[in-house]
Amino acid sequence: MKRYKVNRDKCVGCGTCAAVCPRGMEMDSDNKARVISSAAAEECGGVELCSYEAIEEVNGAELADDDER
Ligand code: SF4
Repeated sequence: MKRYKVNRDKCVGCGTCAAVCPRGMEMDSDNKARVISSAAAEECGGVELCSYEAIEEVNGAELADDDER
């Protein structure tokens, strides 16, 4: 399974990903998107969810990040 994270520098806070894929994505208190389920995000289209290229695939070395809780 692929895993995803949000590049907060690229996220403009449009909310589209969370609106389209509420099981996979949510907006945080800074109005940046956050991955809540990579599996759900994958079903919704993964990186294609964001037209700003803010949703990125996470490679193995980055799995320790805290974007997904
Ligand atoms: S669709 Fe992209 S820019 Fe919009 S909130 Fe989601 S991650 Fe951020």
